Amino acid sequence: MKMRGELEIIRSNNVKIEIEVLNACPVCKSDKVKVLYRDLPDLTFFSSDQLWRLSKCTVCGSGYLSPRPTKSAISLAYESYYTHDEDNKNSELISNKLLSAISGRYIRKHTQGGCNNIVDLIIYWFVTFFYPLKTYIDGKCRHLYYFKCKPLSLLDIGCGSGKFLLFAKNMGWDVVGMDLDAKAIKVAKEKGLEVWEGDIGQYDIRQQFNVITISHVVEHIYNPKQLLKQCYRALQPGGYLWIQTPNIDGIGSYFYKRHWRGLEPPRHLIIFNSKTIRGMLEEIGYESIQQKYTGLATFYTFKHSELIRKKEKNLNGSKYTTNKVWLLSKIVVAEIFQIASLRRNEFVTFIARKPANSAKNTL
Ligand SMILES: [Zn+2]
Repeated sequence: MKMRGELEIIRSNNVKIEIEVLNACPVCKSDKVKVLYRDLPDLTFFSSDQLWRLSKCTVCGSGYLSPRPTKSAISLAYESYYTHDEDNKNSELISNKLLSAISGRYIRKHTQGGCNNIVDLIIYWFVTFFYPLKTYIDGKCRHLYYFKCKPLSLLDIGCGSGKFLLFAKNMGWDVVGMDLDAKAIKVAKEKGLEVWEGDIGQYDIRQQFNVITISHVVEHIYNPKQLLKQCYRALQPGGYLWIQTPNIDGIGSYFYKRHWRGLEPPRHLIIFNSKTIRGMLEEIGYESIQQKYTGLATFYTFKHSELIRKKEKNLNGSKYTTNKVWLLSKIVVAEIFQIASLRRNEFVTFIARKPANSAKNTL
């Protein structure tokens, strides 16, 4: 099956953008497809005034953009993207100084044991028993304190300005980051981090890392399976891959439909579900594949989905005001629902292991 069809040049904001039409699902290669949403504008970073179409594969359930910008044109969609910047909008993820302080104290107690003072102890037990908050912190830490590896070597693909790398470094890990964004790399270097510009395919990395993390990256990639294979090669036998991405079958997608924050056209090229991520990991040879629940993501995604809804309604000449009580009710329902159903989690989060006896596996 030929995946890519015709190429076309469109003009948007007086900029020429080369686009390509897909004839088949970029994950499973099936041509069985239904159009999910038409005429999606980029209401997150306003990269162009072009409207995009999202289709859904009826075989594997992945969502994908078609037409989409070609590889050579996609940089236009990132000109106002936030990984350039120093910890600004990213830090908005329901975290304020209070949450950071709670997380910091919980992590310190969790990783170092002992009890420095009564406040730390109260916070530790509060987080431990408030399950969504505990899993939120676990997710923000990418479950690092559960990995039993020696030495502690970590590669973060799509590291942006290095916020997570710095956190891991402070936890005692030897860290390396990688990103396509030269501006973000510059910011990370200024923090004293070892970061490489480019993608993993440019470097000959074999069995160097114990842990590789890919957070909200795989949905931006033209060939996600190839990326996961490259990660497999770069992992030491027995090493772990940690991956998180928006879930097209998640609760936010269900509530917000075309206004869901996870769509983010045209930067999110493929939007996965738990079945498609698991399937790719299994096919490559990862083992001990575990899906993880991470709580409280809806505080961020629902708030931003409301903003997208408001912007689109305003563009169409109608008014929309968020009913905060209704929003909070939806968040509470969604959080409860997610605990009951991993498949409906706002984000798909997996930990997978490269088999310990895979030293000769060259993929
Ligand atoms: Zn498919």
